[in-house]
Amino acid sequence: MNRKDFIILDQKIYDRPLVYFDNAATTQKPEIVINAMSDYYRTINSNIHRGVHYLSQRATDQFEIARQRVRAFINAANNHEIIFTRGTTEAINLVASSFGKAFLCAGDEVIITEMEHHANIVPWQMICEERGAKVKALSFDSRGVLEAEKLESLITEKTKIVSIAHISNALGTINPIKQIIEIAHRHDIPVMVDGAQAISHAKVDVQELDCDFYCFSGHKMYGPMGIGVLYGKEKWLDKMPPYQGGGEMIKKVTIEKTTYADLPFKFEAGTPAVGDAIGLEKAIEYMENIGIEKIANHEEELLQYGVAKMQELGGIDFVGTAPDKTAIISFNFKGIHPYDAGVIIDRMGVAVRTGHHCAQPVMDHFGIPGTIRASFALYNEKWEIDMLIEALKKVKMMFG
Ligand code: PMP
Repeated sequence: MNRKDFIILDQKIYDRPLVYFDNAATTQKPEIVINAMSDYYRTINSNIHRGVHYLSQRATDQFEIARQRVRAFINAANNHEIIFTRGTTEAINLVASSFGKAFLCAGDEVIITEMEHHANIVPWQMICEERGAKVKALSFDSRGVLEAEKLESLITEKTKIVSIAHISNALGTINPIKQIIEIAHRHDIPVMVDGAQAISHAKVDVQELDCDFYCFSGHKMYGPMGIGVLYGKEKWLDKMPPYQGGGEMIKKVTIEKTTYADLPFKFEAGTPAVGDAIGLEKAIEYMENIGIEKIANHEEELLQYGVAKMQELGGIDFVGTAPDKTAIISFNFKGIHPYDAGVIIDRMGVAVRTGHHCAQPVMDHFGIPGTIRASFALYNEKWEIDMLIEALKKVKMMFG
């Protein structure tokens, strides 16, 4: 589907057509995104918000149009609840640091899950250490399904926030975030959702979910690296101190004291990634033109096809077999180190990721060093899965 829009895919590596199955790490960018960014630098590049001159005003308009597009895409109530960040990692660090400073005290608790990416573990550990608070984690079962029913018993009067991945990057599990949010809200606890793996595969409506924070990265949704989004409910963002200080985020500065700008600028210190925001806007337009549901159905078809072919091949342990999962196949060959398998798969022209996928607690849970991960995007096709299977046969032959 739409493979031709992604010129990078039209190349041979090791004399074989490139098969790119590392989409959970980053997706490729369609021409419309690359062109929008180069057009920006060719025609209107200028620093924003501060200038009265023509280019600055045009760049500012485009940047704010991008914010508006993001707002509509996730159905946030207000533009000022959309904060541009460098990516998911920065968004979570922002909330952990800023929410933590405002609301976490000694003895308080933060609940995450055992299937989080390190980006949704380490920032919470850092702030908890600083504030004398504690991180607790919700467990998952042998299929990689979150034990959501245990959340209630983890919550205490000391719990201040729950932070959870919408979709696990290591397992592909789609978490029941609506249920989690409902449980947490019954106890007046806000919920942050790490949407890095969900945003390009599922329709996200932050008002319908009623999440308090939601974040994602542009580069995992056919947009550029260096830009991401933090959605936060105004009622929380208003009460949180700025994450960084500098230009753009102030109302008035004297040597003695600074008053801060209103949302969203309070959280956008310094020159933002204007060209990247414009690229992200185009990536959203691109996905919307195809239709998120159509993308999800296509990826689901690839997932079913891939799993069936791998089952046929045999000798494979699937890591993450939740009934509700996205187009990520994490697996190991019995008795073969994922890294050794990965080297051979690469030589067959297929890009997969091997390792712990920045989710070491998931690997510890299963007692494995890592997995091989094939993750699909809208431009992948069934013949590419056939090439992966061919590569897997080679791995079996060489190590089997
Ligand atoms: N959370 C999840 C679930 C992810 O998959 C990733 C990226 N692998 C991140 C957070 C971090 O995203 P980024 O590196 O774009 O900040």
